[in-house]
Amino acid sequence: MKLAQLTAYLESLAPLAYQEDYDNSGLIVGQPNQEVSQALISLDCTEAVVDEAIATGCQVIISHHPIVFKGLKKFNSKTYVERVVEKAIRNNIALYAIHTNLDNVMMGVNARICETLGLVNFHVLAPRQNLLKKLVTYVPTAQADQVRNALFHAGAGHIGNYSDCSFNAEGTGTFKAGEGTDPYVGEPGIRHHEEEVRIETVYPANLESKVIMALILAHPYEEVAYDLYNMTNQHQQVGSGMIGELETPMSEEEFLSEVKHNMQAEVIRHTAFTGRRIKKVAVCGGSGGFLLKQAIAAGADIFITADYKYHEFFDAEGKILIADIGHFESEQFTQQLLYEIIQNKFVNFAIRLTKVNTNPVKYFI
Ligand SMILES: [Zn+2]
Repeated sequence: MKLAQLTAYLESLAPLAYQEDYDNSGLIVGQPNQEVSQALISLDCTEAVVDEAIATGCQVIISHHPIVFKGLKKFNSKTYVERVVEKAIRNNIALYAIHTNLDNVMMGVNARICETLGLVNFHVLAPRQNLLKKLVTYVPTAQADQVRNALFHAGAGHIGNYSDCSFNAEGTGTFKAGEGTDPYVGEPGIRHHEEEVRIETVYPANLESKVIMALILAHPYEEVAYDLYNMTNQHQQVGSGMIGELETPMSEEEFLSEVKHNMQAEVIRHTAFTGRRIKKVAVCGGSGGFLLKQAIAAGADIFITADYKYHEFFDAEGKILIADIGHFESEQFTQQLLYEIIQNKFVNFAIRLTKVNTNPVKYFI
């Protein structure tokens, strides 16, 4: 298939608009219209992974971490980043990254961690703002249904696990068609009164052009009246980290050994035990230290993440148990997640999980 088919599907699940500002998710090397028959999945895109793609005949590498984060000024094989990009281009291998946009969605990196830890009732720890907008439009009563359906089909009207959400009020619209018009109802040059429904609905800002296109196609009028509003509401299903619960609370020691086993962590660095039983668990794959305040405010007994620095451990203040399980360890199951996502959609497309352990951190035990 075309590479664009694959990336469009991934971006329908984890839209690029959901990535953090510093990130560089998306197609880094390659052309959307190139043919691909096999993808290699890895957490990191290293030279060894590119070699593996060449050896196994994969035309695209889908990695969690983007190989390029900041501007590259030279391509002379000096750094591993340059060498990876050069080798990929020379061998016609596309590089695609699905990073914080996959962290930030409900079925992403953190949900997989919650599942691996056996948590229930998990949801986003720090929901993002400014991702939702509101559309108001005015439709003749007889066509209100067809317009609502079109808007919902384009992705409008979702609130949490509810779909088809809208508010509808009846009223009277007026208009006078000018020269060169072909009004759906009424006569040019005469003010017309029409019974209309004011439809209000919410939509994700990244779907705006799709939603407006659907509105215009479904609406009977030559000129469609609509208003777009910015909203500061949180998007409950998009954001950083997750918090869930253990069905049966357990001691800190018991839970840490469970975490160590389930997450295949060689070692866990943690703060002093608080003496409380673990019930609520906050998680964030990768460097999640920025979420400590939210984890404490949400009543988490433990915060499982990675990349904690010495001084940051003091911030636990006896209120929470911080557990640093390692960056690679926290995100390693993302590879399996990507494998399943692609396999479930494209049953005849070949996918490989990398055999390279890309973790740059080794433990001397
Ligand atoms: Zn990471």
